[in-house]
Amino acid sequence: FGDFVWLDSGVGVPIGAEVKVIDTGQLRLIDDEGKEHKVNKKMEGSIRPMHPTSVEGVNDMIRLGDLNEAGLLRNLLVRHKEGIIYTYTGSILVAVNPYQLLPIYTMDHVNMYTDRRLGELPPHVFAIADSCFFNMRRKQKNQCCVISGESGAGKTESTKLMLQFLAALSRQHSWIEQQILEANPILEAFGNAKTIRNDNSSRFGKYIDITFTKGGAIDGARFEQYLLEKSRVCRQTPDERNYHIFYYMLMGMSAEQKKILSLGTAAEYNYLTMGNCTTCEGRDDLKEYTHFQSALKILTFTENDSWEISKLLAAILHLGNVNFESTIVNNLEGCEVLKSTHFSMASQLLEVDLKELRKSLTQRSFVVTRENVSKCLTPAQAIDGRDAFVKAIYGRLFIWIVEKINSAIYKPPTTLDEVQQSIGLLDIFGFENFDKNSFEQLCINFANEQLQQFFVMHIFKLEQVEYACENIVWKHIDYIDNQSTLDVLANKPMNMLALIDEESNFPKGTDTTMLQKMNQVHGKGKIYIPPKNNYETQFGIQHFAGVVYYDSKGFLEKNRDTLSSDLIQLVETSTSKLLKEVFHKELRLGAIKNPKHVATLSGQFRQSLDSLMKTLAACQPYFIRCIKPNDFKKPMVFNRDLCMRQLRYSGMMETIRIRKAGYPVRYTFSEFLDRYRALLKTSICDPKSESKQKCCESICETVLNGEGDWKIGKTKIFLKDFHDTALELGRMKQ
Ligand code: ATP
Ligand code: MG
Repeated sequence: FGDFVWLDSGVGVPIGAEVKVIDTGQLRLIDDEGKEHKVNKKMEGSIRPMHPTSVEGVNDMIRLGDLNEAGLLRNLLVRHKEGIIYTYTGSILVAVNPYQLLPIYTMDHVNMYTDRRLGELPPHVFAIADSCFFNMRRKQKNQCCVISGESGAGKTESTKLMLQFLAALSRQHSWIEQQILEANPILEAFGNAKTIRNDNSSRFGKYIDITFTKGGAIDGARFEQYLLEKSRVCRQTPDERNYHIFYYMLMGMSAEQKKILSLGTAAEYNYLTMGNCTTCEGRDDLKEYTHFQSALKILTFTENDSWEISKLLAAILHLGNVNFESTIVNNLEGCEVLKSTHFSMASQLLEVDLKELRKSLTQRSFVVTRENVSKCLTPAQAIDGRDAFVKAIYGRLFIWIVEKINSAIYKPPTTLDEVQQSIGLLDIFGFENFDKNSFEQLCINFANEQLQQFFVMHIFKLEQVEYACENIVWKHIDYIDNQSTLDVLANKPMNMLALIDEESNFPKGTDTTMLQKMNQVHGKGKIYIPPKNNYETQFGIQHFAGVVYYDSKGFLEKNRDTLSSDLIQLVETSTSKLLKEVFHKELRLGAIKNPKHVATLSGQFRQSLDSLMKTLAACQPYFIRCIKPNDFKKPMVFNRDLCMRQLRYSGMMETIRIRKAGYPVRYTFSEFLDRYRALLKTSICDPKSESKQKCCESICETVLNGEGDWKIGKTKIFLKDFHDTALELGRMKQ
């Protein structure tokens, strides 16, 4: 009575249940989802007693007695029921999205978590931020925090909370801190949108590197952006919106400004209505616009910058409403732009000649035996060309904005001796597997494979290698290594990304020839799943988080990411300074004459990912795993299957096992002595006569007595996370 058991129904992971009544030979149970079960003698095999740690839940999963999937899941569930969203796995933070504002981010909480060791207080995102800061200063080493999870799991909110804490910690209330915080509303206006999964979904990846002075004050920051989803500017699926900025603008601009730009309401624009959704419940576009504008000022955008940006955005909306009419000339289909104010406004706002704009939208020129000829476009081709132009403008505008923000908040180190320390926060798109997946999903999932490998490297591989080197007795823990997927995607000779690039650079290459090559090279392996037959365009990839099927249609076009030379030439003739500035790369590289100079999309993305991985590898990493508890954006709803899937593919089970068995904190003997010498009882161990190793052992024996599972290696001492906490507390008391 009042006891708890695990109930294994044979489907899914066992569920926790409370024993309510014991009748003659029969148990009545109420499970964690409130369902009643009657268990008779015959079914006794399906229940087993629950460890006390699983009844109430624990702060750190490592302490769970029932160390299995059911135990992990129930721990999160029990805590979620009580409104506790944070749980540790050693120093890894698991954060379950509460979908409600919790009163746990006040200034009092900031103060409470400042300068405390991890594990001293209940788990919290502030504790991770504090730990990053503390370790950056203690070890003089850059720190980074990788925040992962699927769309809507809470990555961006966690990133903002980390930033908020670090800004508060530096206690300067300085202009630069405010600037860094206010960069977010700008980035979100341009890079976030309402999707069916998240009302404020980030459609780009970002890495923020925050630099600190020697004294620990925030000194600057730099944003890096990855792969904005450009297609959204022209197209949205049902119940989704375009980027926030368009709706903000139409709600927030003065009537006078709107008149100059000839703008109406969101309902009037093709580009804003494809998802049949122009408002977003719970979001006040008007208020956000005001905030956005004040943020622009703080980030040193001038009135003129702001106006020029609005002009480009308005031009995009007008372009989207331009229509084309089919014409037949000499038996060939071509098209004409239908006359409308939208078309004339577009040319006016882009500051290009109306006739030139018409020409570059309806014709395409190319070179045949050194002669320039031009071809008429069909209405469908013209629409594609127009959309490509719009995507190019928006995508480059976004990059320009990030660069502009950086120029306001980032100061490269001036003198050589002024070492900057930094904390990097990575908020990048999670693993994606939709009904239809395309080239963008392949890039995103590739990024996730890389991050997973970084995690695997850090948590499993390097750790076990080090135990072996240091002669620590250790039973190897198996884990799922995704290296072979990465090899097929990007490392092997003729890897998939290389093949895609090769076909993209090959003028005659098509999606079909690309698919054939992939079948040829990778068809026999375990990672790549070829299409079922010759007509099928879908291929699959075995990712660490499951199989994803991609439709190869449109891959090359998307990867080439080139704009017709006619449109680049048009930009060159524009008198809009901003338009020319956002296209500066193309104009400077002479992309008109030599389109090969412009790297493919996946090429650029790989390059920026490589540099990210190098940065991360040079840091001490922290990990936050965000979990989405339900698909309805609802508080207090915990879908066990959904959560279990996320726990599984993030490798949480293996992580707990290794964290429980392992020694994540390690010092060389000298590092350890330098830091904890004050804790050495010289009456027991005299540093003058004893070796460093002996002194280290002596400190551990006195301070960590009773919790003796630490290890001495050949050159290093190995500790559990909580040992580190105990030592730090001991040191502070001295
Ligand atoms: P995406 O990959 O789509 O960008 P994400 O992981 O960045 O998703 P967020 O935008 O951070 O997800 O979170 C989605 C929503 O969940 C937020 O808009 C907010 O309403 C809610 N949310 C997330 N974390 C918290 C939190 N700590 N407290 C309160 N609400 C939260
Ligand atoms: Mg986000």
